[in-house]
Amino acid sequence: MTPDNQESALVLLSGGQDSTTCLAWALDRFPHVETLGFDYGQRHRVELGLRPALRDGLRAIDPAWAARLGEDHTLALDALGALSDTALTRESEIAMQADGLPNTFVPGRNLLFLTFAAALAYRRGLRHIVGGMCETDFSGYPDCRDDTIKALQVAINLGMNRRFVLHTPLMWIDKAETWRLAQRLGGTPLVRLIVEHTHTCYRGERGAMHPWGHGCGTCPACELRAAGWEGFVKG
Ligand code: ZN
Repeated sequence: MTPDNQESALVLLSGGQDSTTCLAWALDRFPHVETLGFDYGQRHRVELGLRPALRDGLRAIDPAWAARLGEDHTLALDALGALSDTALTRESEIAMQADGLPNTFVPGRNLLFLTFAAALAYRRGLRHIVGGMCETDFSGYPDCRDDTIKALQVAINLGMNRRFVLHTPLMWIDKAETWRLAQRLGGTPLVRLIVEHTHTCYRGERGAMHPWGHGCGTCPACELRAAGWEGFVKG
């Protein structure tokens, strides 16, 4: 731990492609990086179990990253699971709602995640908070919007009397560019780590191995990841 280190970061690490790319991005920039995962009974909970292997894989890619990667934290957010009535936490079918949002939407999820992350960062003396929120690809989730994150940064800094910086390196890039970012940060070893060891599928299936990774191949998350991979390999 490095208390009150102005150059230290906390990365929200779910075990998916986006958050793993964000962790590599942070390891490339900050001398001390800790990670945080949330357990709220999500259907694709399998991704949480992948986090230790991802952290080990990142350490193996670059000795500098190994030296920078600090503690891992997990917080149970049972209240969030209890509050949500969506396909993400119940065994119902994934579909689009009348308002254009997939019914996997957990209202305000990222507001809660970032607020809990800030509380932990406060305790740990970490200044930078990094999340994989993205306005480009994500079907209009209002809590992924750049304006939402910026407003939350202001609210958190006022409410906690700190100068946290919320970073969202994927905010304006699409899935193909996210693969390219991984390629730039950690080359082929990082791309392979993400393909083989991250999880995206909303149905929580590891099952078949596709060129872009494991998953059912037909849910919205798998389709998005597959399309992004196509764009990446086509250059
Ligand atoms: Zn899937």
